[in-house]
This record gives sequence, structure tokens and C-alpha cells, in this order.
Amino acid sequence: MKFIDEFANKEVATGIINQINKIATKKCTLMEVCGTHTMALFRFGIRDILSNNINVVAGPGCPVCVIPQEMIDKVIELASSAVIATYGDMFRVPGSRSSLEKERAKGSDVRIIYSAQDALQIAMQNPDKEVVFFAIGFETTTPATAYTLIQAKEKQIDNFFILCGHKLIPPAMETLCQGNLNIHGFICPGHVSTIIGSAPYQEIANRYKVPCVITGFEPLDILEGIYALIRQINTDRADVENAYKRAVRFYGNTLAKEVIDNVFKVVDSNWRGLGVIPGSGLAVRDEFIEFDAEQKFNIHLRQIEPVKPQPGCLCGDILRGVITPPECTNFGTLCTPEEPLGPCMVSSEGTCAAYYKYGKKGNSKIK
Ligand code: SF4
Repeated sequence: MKFIDEFANKEVATGIINQINKIATKKCTLMEVCGTHTMALFRFGIRDILSNNINVVAGPGCPVCVIPQEMIDKVIELASSAVIATYGDMFRVPGSRSSLEKERAKGSDVRIIYSAQDALQIAMQNPDKEVVFFAIGFETTTPATAYTLIQAKEKQIDNFFILCGHKLIPPAMETLCQGNLNIHGFICPGHVSTIIGSAPYQEIANRYKVPCVITGFEPLDILEGIYALIRQINTDRADVENAYKRAVRFYGNTLAKEVIDNVFKVVDSNWRGLGVIPGSGLAVRDEFIEFDAEQKFNIHLRQIEPVKPQPGCLCGDILRGVITPPECTNFGTLCTPEEPLGPCMVSSEGTCAAYYKYGKKGNSKIK
């Protein structure tokens, strides 16, 4: 197939769905580890047309949702002394007492940006101000942040800093395998895999005997991925398969990985809902330390402080696939996209937001 329309061909899709449902004779739970997959599964109505034997749950694949509350509290603290440049989804996520949106309403200079480059531009255009970019995202967005820091160093920009919330997906998948979640297969994240390749999932498939299939985001991509997973489950295999070959190579994007390695080092990181996961986060290397907001403003984000979660918000359970959003009593009542209680309802890739948008506010037929 050469054109994007072909990946949504109804006849072909119907054939694959019939095949999947024919061979899905055992009950199984598949987890999609990517917020974009969560949205795509809803947008194309895929959850509704699968056999009742196949339960598809969302995992910790929304980068906004997994940022812990104490980090949001810290960026809110920074907003009192620096310009904050943030992606739009992060703007509304509640910390324990406030949000960046509320701080801006009170007078702080918080700006919504679309890329790391935008944040650097703000710093260059405002040399009398200190600008902090709230850098979040998985392996997909990290190369852009890394490249921006390389540029900032070359241009000797001394008023630009990043608050680094970048995280790595494979260690989070391992942590999920170590719990009692009973996941029978992973729909691996397509965007992340374009950077890291298919190789890093091999360890997960081997060690935890969980099949992994990388897929894209069109209907046939996702259906092909689910079909491959069910075939593996039926034959007791746990391999890594790549159903997104047009974008993902075995070793990924080596240039992007090199840029990341030059700027960042791997550290332990705290994830909302999953706790501290060894080797799952990134911090600025010593060579770029002058751009590290933690050092500059003397804040210690990696000291994990106990912060009370939003009362009644079950985002942690949502991110581990333990419950679905309609099982949260706040869903669609006290918590809506207009008045979100937790990040899963704020982010455009959040599971609660996806259920709210496509799931008819808690339709119990939706798994
Ligand atoms: S519905 Fe709202 S309160 Fe409940 S888990 Fe989702 S974001 Fe949290």
C-alpha cells in the first residue's frame, strides 16, 4: 500500500476483523502503550467491533498524564520568577494547589508553545527575562529538545533553561509486566518506535513472555497489530513483530538517538500511577548543565515528596490499565474536559478525555 486511504480500506478492514474475531477464542487483555493509539481505537470504533474475548486497555502512553503532581507543583513555583513555556495540554493539568492556567490568570508569564524551538525563540527575543521550557514527552519529542539545547549552547543563550520531564517507554512497560496486571500482549507505540526501533522490546518479550507488536495509527495498522497479537497468544509465542515497517526500523533512528545521548543521561524517574521506575527518565548531562532549570533555580525535583493526589481522581489506576474511566465516580460528573480533576481528562491523548469524547460519557458497552 502506498497511499494513506488504502490503510482505511473498509473491505480489507472487515476481512481482518472477521479473521481476528474468528481466532479470538481465548479471553485476553491487550494494552496499547500510546495515547495516539487510544484516540485512534476510539475514532475508528475498533473497540466496539472486536470479539468480547478481546479486552483492550490503555496504558501509560500519554506524556502529560504520567508527569507526577509534585513536578507540576514545582513548575508552578518557577512561574513566580521566570517565564514558563509549556505545551498546551500541560497548561491546564492541576497540581496540588493550582495550575499554570490559574497562575497565568493571577499574573504569571506562562506561554503556550508548539515546539522546543518556540521556547528558545522566546528566550532569544526576551534577553532580560529567564525562560524555562517545561520539556515533557517520550522518545518521540526528546530529540527536538536535545537539538534545541545544542543550538542554545552554540548561540550562547544564557537565559534559556529546561525543566526536564522526558521519560522512556520500555522501562515503564517492564514495570507493568512485573505487576499483576495480566497483560497478554502489547500494542507498542508507533511514534516512539520510529526513534528507538523494534530492538528494545525484545527483552520484554523474552523475559516476561508478553507478545509485542508495533503498529501505526491507521485502521489497518491497528487491526493488523491486533491480529498478530492474537496469533501469538494462540500459539503461546512471545515475539516482537513490526506491523509498522514503513516507519520503524530494527535499530530506529540512529541520528536522533545520538542527539539524545549527547545531551541527556538516563536517570530514575517518578511516574504518576507507577511510582519511581529505575532508568526510566532523562536528565541534562553535565556538558549542558547550564541549561538545567533544577540547577539554576536550585529546585530538587527528583526528591520525591509526598503530595496528596486530587481527591477521588484515579488517574494512577487508569494509567496502569486497572480500571477504565467510567469506573471513576467523577467521570463525566465532577470531572469533564472543561473542569478536569486529573491529567487523564486534560490531555488530548488522555484516556479519560478519549472515553469522554468518543465513549458517550461512560457507555458501559465500551471496554
Ligand atoms: S475521570 Fe477525572 S477524576 Fe476520574 S480518573 Fe479520570 S481524570 Fe481522574
